[in-house]
Amino acid sequence: LHLARIDAVDGAVHAFLHVDREGALAQAAASDERRAAGETLSPLDGVPIAVKDVLTTEGLPTTCGSKILEGWLPPYDSTVVSKLKAAGLPILGKTNMDEFAMGSSTEHSAYGPTHNPWDLDRIPGGSGGGSAAAVAAFEAPLAIGTDTGGSIRQPGAVTGTVGVKPTYGGISRYGLVALANSLDQAGPVTRTVLDSALLHDIIGGHDPKDSTSIDQEWPSFTDAARSGAAGDMTGVKIGVITELAGDGWQPGVMARFTESVDLLVKAGAEVVEVSCPSFVHALAAYYLILPAEASSNLAKFDAMRYGLRVVPDGDPSAEDVMRATRDAGFGDEVKRRIILGTYALSSGYYDAYYGQAQKVRTLISRDFEAAFASVDVLVSPTAPTTAFKLGEKLDDPIAMYLNDLATIPANLAGVPGISVPSGLADEDGLPAGFQILAPALEDERLYRVGAALE
Ligand code: GLN
Repeated sequence: LHLARIDAVDGAVHAFLHVDREGALAQAAASDERRAAGETLSPLDGVPIAVKDVLTTEGLPTTCGSKILEGWLPPYDSTVVSKLKAAGLPILGKTNMDEFAMGSSTEHSAYGPTHNPWDLDRIPGGSGGGSAAAVAAFEAPLAIGTDTGGSIRQPGAVTGTVGVKPTYGGISRYGLVALANSLDQAGPVTRTVLDSALLHDIIGGHDPKDSTSIDQEWPSFTDAARSGAAGDMTGVKIGVITELAGDGWQPGVMARFTESVDLLVKAGAEVVEVSCPSFVHALAAYYLILPAEASSNLAKFDAMRYGLRVVPDGDPSAEDVMRATRDAGFGDEVKRRIILGTYALSSGYYDAYYGQAQKVRTLISRDFEAAFASVDVLVSPTAPTTAFKLGEKLDDPIAMYLNDLATIPANLAGVPGISVPSGLADEDGLPAGFQILAPALEDERLYRVGAALE
């Protein structure tokens, strides 16, 4: 069914970079056999899923949206993918993304943009626009994204889907091609909060292969979503982040946000305003820390080990090959960030840029700690606007970066966040997102409060 839907609409949406028809059908058949044999099945056994092309999948292409990895077939599965397979979810294929997950619109993919199913002339968000669009266009019931600065939540907001960035360390990063190791987390992209919870229960948990994976037992997120769906928010204290609302935010997005807050109040929640003064510096700090980590991570694409190799004419040295390959294989945004990151880390500038950004990061964590001392969850609109037109911000990196205003603080502090649909903005009839943030390790609160809004 989903393969037929992909055939029908993916020519226009372009959510997928690779569809694994045979693999998905074989996995589905195996699931049918397990069911017929009366085996105990995971709740999502047989439910197909799409995976962002930044997670390694044994024997399937993993390009990270980049030409530099074209043709690379990873010899191993990421832990997330192993867990999906173990739980019986057939993998439909790999979804489109901004190159190496750098972007907010999926326009930086080397394989062409994904289109928003709500309006094909608009962006599906990024970097995980492919995963969000696949779910929004009913090409896949579930998808996996990754969120380094908002790449699960912001695409969720602009495509009317649910997206979760778990607590840092909650989901293994083994086999997730790193953009920025200290910020990256994989997570669910779905149509309902309960689906995200079911998926999170499957992909989460400790993994000895990832040294930053948290070694603890997690509560059932499915139970949390079910309890929230009952709709009683009595005793829940919600903080509206003053710095992430108001002027400069699209009125229709703000209107839907206020409505969602009112719904929670009607369900019994208490709402207060909370100031997080350092959040205004989050964007600047992130766009130093991220390029710094990314420039170091991307150094491994040296034409020797993986994917593309461009050999210039004549008698080229290894360095010539490296230079030609990286020049041809990386797109403009990736090059921009490598230059920025290398500069920020160079001796003499380290204290002024990277060191300073790390201090801001600490201040942001402290803002969260202070806020969570008095409220259970914090809320804001997920993104300042609904989906903008393809091409509109492509030549203006700062305008593109500003989309991440509300999502970045969670990554800098490692706290979990969810985006749930809050309705359609009046101006353009496009989906807006409602973001809920919780303290680290308290992901179940996201599901409880998020489910109350459905
Ligand atoms: N828009 C952010 C960036 O360009 C998001 C990245 C992400 O979460 N992968 O860095």
